[in-house]
Formats: sequence, structure tokens, C-alpha cells
Amino acid sequence: MIPRSRCTAMDADDALQALRDQFALPAGVIYLDGNSLGARPKNALDRARQVVEAEWGDDLIRSWNKAGWFDLPARLGAKLAPLIGASADEVVVTDSTSVNLFKALAAALRQQEEMRPQENRRTIVTERANFPTDVYIAQGLASWLDRGYEIRLVDSHDELPQVIDEKTAVVMLTHVNYRTGRMHDMAGVTALAHSRGALMLWDLAHSAGAVPVDLNGADADFAVGCTYKYLNGGPGAPAFIWVPARHQAAFRQPLSGWWSHASPFTMQPRFEPIEGIRRALCGTQPITSLALVECGLDIFMQTSMEAIRAKSLALTDLFIELVETRCSRHPLELVTPREHAQRGSQVSFAHPHGYAVMQALIERGVIGDYREPHIMRFGFTPLYTSFTDVWDAVETLADILDRKQYDPDARRDAVT
Ligand SMILES: *Cc1c(COP(=O)(O)O)cnc(C)c1O
Repeated sequence: MIPRSRCTAMDADDALQALRDQFALPAGVIYLDGNSLGARPKNALDRARQVVEAEWGDDLIRSWNKAGWFDLPARLGAKLAPLIGASADEVVVTDSTSVNLFKALAAALRQQEEMRPQENRRTIVTERANFPTDVYIAQGLASWLDRGYEIRLVDSHDELPQVIDEKTAVVMLTHVNYRTGRMHDMAGVTALAHSRGALMLWDLAHSAGAVPVDLNGADADFAVGCTYKYLNGGPGAPAFIWVPARHQAAFRQPLSGWWSHASPFTMQPRFEPIEGIRRALCGTQPITSLALVECGLDIFMQTSMEAIRAKSLALTDLFIELVETRCSRHPLELVTPREHAQRGSQVSFAHPHGYAVMQALIERGVIGDYREPHIMRFGFTPLYTSFTDVWDAVETLADILDRKQYDPDARRDAVT
């Protein structure tokens, strides 16, 4: 078995270890849930105070100009862009992932109809195992449009080549699955969709800040994603939407609020979309929350996604190896792919008492989370997770399992 001393040596060699100090992590906690809610950058507190006290309190309405509030969605989008292989003028940080999905999917369906009006493409292909909101948004939009759109749910990645066909309007997939941590081949699936005439919409909720993403390199059509997970933007922080330069002129989304108007302060009665990525906006943003997104992004600016990926794979490899050696007597089943090319930055293990075991872990300061059915999720965030954390977390898991220190009848909280 790998000794703990080897992990402390790996930490000493780790160039990212220095960034951990920029996060406020409570003592006694090993945080393996940055895939659900990223840890707080220390300077988020000062930034929040500045926004509330100085920008709102002292400068009041003048801050829309003076503090750059009005431009914040585009300015933060430009900062986020390099993390996902986008150009600076192709991303805005705004609204929620669910709302951005609605806008992007609606725009994609419309663009498809305009490009190929004769083809009557009416299916939206996605996965049954996709995060529910993605499927619900597609179902809601399709039924609301009432134009014959159908959702085609595939059960495995292998089905995509059969299912994507000449009736497919849009393929809408989440790059890294929230439950299994399995990652799609973005360039490969995008090329497949394009070869059948379909548009490709990616959800990067578990990718942005977790794995290198190259949207333009993959020639993708649209993308959305979260900032409160791996990007450490804060609870409920606004999400992002990407529309590549080549699609911006044709891009029309149904939430045509005044922030996407060509001249919002002329107060015209007629809607006319602004040029460029701002046409993906809708209305006034939650500035206090939006401003904090920058604190997380500023930490990413100090390293590269390649360095983050290298450490992420080393952390997840180590975790898998330690669990499989240290807990081999227990009915744990690895759900996440072993192949690096198919793995995001989380590891999931199924256990018949997964919920109860996770509750016991959390009580002992090892915070992961639980997803049906039976799945314990562990997220690995290279900016603030150390190799020693991994070793200690597995030691705690082994102890809980060896001594059956969990309550199989544990009552479920509303949020698991
Ligand atoms: C986390 C997540 C979301 C969250 O959507 P919200 O609108 O922020 O609630 C959406 N899609 C996927 C794939 C996610 O992982």
C-alpha cells in the first residue's frame, strides 16, 4: 500500500500546493465536494464587502458605470473564455445554467430550422443519465413550442452513432456526467453530430475549471456551464453561455430582455438585438453574486488547465488505488472510468449503503456527497486538494467500513 509519507512528498513537489492558501477551508475538513459547491476564495469576503459597502453603499446608482457593473457579464466572460477554449468576445456570465440551456437550445432549434427548412429535423438527442434539469428544460421547451419536437434519450455513449441521424436537430450533452464522472470525447461527438447535419450543444457544468476544454478546437456550436462548482464562484453564482463568433449574427434567443437590446437606454418599444455575445443576456444581473465570480477566476489565472489536469488525474488515480487496496473487503464498485481520456475530475463508488456511509464520512469531516442510486461522489479540485487529503480521506472511509461506523437507517436530508 502507498504510505502516507509518499503523499506528503508528492505535496512537497506540487506546484499547485501554493494556491491552496488562497482558499478559506475550515480546519478539520477534507473537502471533496468542489464539484457541487466550490470552496470560498479568501478574497471573496473583501470583494463582497467592497461591492456592498463602497459600490452599493457609497456610490449607489453611479456604480453601474463607475464600478463597471453594466459590463460585468461580458468582462467576466472574457476572463473565463481561455479556460474553455473560447475567444474573449464569445462568453457572458449571466443567469443560471438551466436558463442558459433554455436560451441556447431554443436558439439552436431556430437556427437549425432556418439553415435546413426542408429537412424537418425534429429530434433533440440527449442522455437519459444527463443531469435532470437539462432533460427537463428540453422537455419543457419542446412541449411549449408544440412544433413536433421530440426528445430522444440514449442509454449509452455507444448508441450515439445510431441515434443521431437526418432527423436530429440538436445533440445536447453534458461533457462530464455528474453521477459517474464519465467524460465524452468532445471533438469526436461534435464531428459525429455535424456529419449528420445536427448542431452540438455542450453543458460544461462539470468541465469548466475541472478539465481542459477546447470549444473552438472541437468546432462546437453552443455551450453553457456553471461557475459555482469547480470555478468557485459562490453558492448560486451566475452561470455562463458561449456562442462562437461564427454563430453570433444568426443567434436569436427567446428571453429578449432589455440587456440584449441594441441600445437599452433609448427605451425603444421595439426589440432589436445587440451585435455580439451580449444578445445572450436577458435582464439585470445579481451584481453582488456576479462580482464574486471574479475571485475564483483570478486564481485560475495563476496556473493553467494543463497543470490542473495533470494533478487532477494524479489525485483521482491515487484515490482509486487507495480505496481498492485499503477497502477491498467491502462491496464498493468503481463507477468512474479508469481510462484517463474518459474521466472528469471526480470519482464515484457505489456501495449498498452509500448514503449512510457518506453521512458518516461527513460527520468525520470528509465531505463528499451522494447521488441515487447508491453512489458516493468524491470531487477532486487540484487548486485546494492535496495528496495527503486523499490519503486521510481513504483512511477515514476504511475505518468507517471496517468498523461499520454508519447507520443504514440514516434519515435523508432534503439536499443529499
Ligand atoms: C449542476 C448542474 C446544473 C445546475 O443548473 P442550475 O440551473 O444551476 O440549477 C445543470 N446541469 C448540469 C449538467 C449540472 O451538473
